[in-house]
Amino acid sequence: MSSLLYNHIEMLIADQLKNWETARVNYTNLSKGLTRELKFGDNIRIKIQYNPERMRSSTAVRDPKTVERKSCFLCRDNRPPQQMGIEYRNDYIILINPYPIFDKHLTLPSLSHSPQLIAGRFTDMLELTKQLSEYSLFYNGPNCGASAPDHFHFQAGNKGFMPIEDEFQKAEKELLSSLKGCNTYALNHGFRKVLVLCGSDSLKLTMLFNHIMRIFSSYLPSDPEPMINIISLWQDEEWSIFVFPRQKHRPDQYFLSAKEQILLSPASVDFGGVLITPRQEDYEKLNKETIKDIFEQLSLEDKIWEAIKNELRD
Ligand SMILES: [Zn+2]
Repeated sequence: MSSLLYNHIEMLIADQLKNWETARVNYTNLSKGLTRELKFGDNIRIKIQYNPERMRSSTAVRDPKTVERKSCFLCRDNRPPQQMGIEYRNDYIILINPYPIFDKHLTLPSLSHSPQLIAGRFTDMLELTKQLSEYSLFYNGPNCGASAPDHFHFQAGNKGFMPIEDEFQKAEKELLSSLKGCNTYALNHGFRKVLVLCGSDSLKLTMLFNHIMRIFSSYLPSDPEPMINIISLWQDEEWSIFVFPRQKHRPDQYFLSAKEQILLSPASVDFGGVLITPRQEDYEKLNKETIKDIFEQLSLEDKIWEAIKNELRD
């Protein structure tokens, strides 16, 4: 990590936890919160985190008309006066997320109120990932978990929290293509299908990503963009980018009533291996079968997955 930016962020976090009541209370509660873990074989762990403060993002309604600039919580004029930030390159501002999942949880909105679309922003994501190498960056598409689909933002959380980051190294993966130091792997990891792009050339990775998005657009629900979640890391002098194609945002269980219901709106962190449940009953109810069922509903069907992999093979 660029040490200057790293130090700035450390100071920002310390300052906000000292001077902003909401942040202090929520980070303290998180540190005392409930987490449990399920193992699927030797190399797959799923953590479950009970996090009542995430209720609003788990139940957010995706309706473009409801989020206007005047009520947008990522626009400068509407942010709480106690919330401080670090501007990055005149494009983004680094904030701490007052409703954390991670011990260190950042939100990185664009300075302008523009929609959540990854097109034209992937290179920024790579650059920010390298700058914030102590963190994992992530992106939730407008229809797969972004709580502000009308204001572009990345998020970041301390590295090592999402199990998939380490498990990827040991996982059985299929190399689909290898182009001048840029590798594309396919992985079916604990019922989640994911493409992983590895390399150190940002231009080539961006071209590869754009190529993948073009392929996705003919196979996935794509209004306004193919449904995806992305997790991005910088380690050992290269990027590892996890792209999770989705066929659905919420599992059927979300819409059931009373006892059958499970309030779970999986986004990047869930696909990274940490399920966030805002209600304690769901935290207790989730078991291996339900988790398998939920991920299978949200990930691509085998037939579509095979077709996409075929298009990506050398
Ligand atoms: Zn906004």
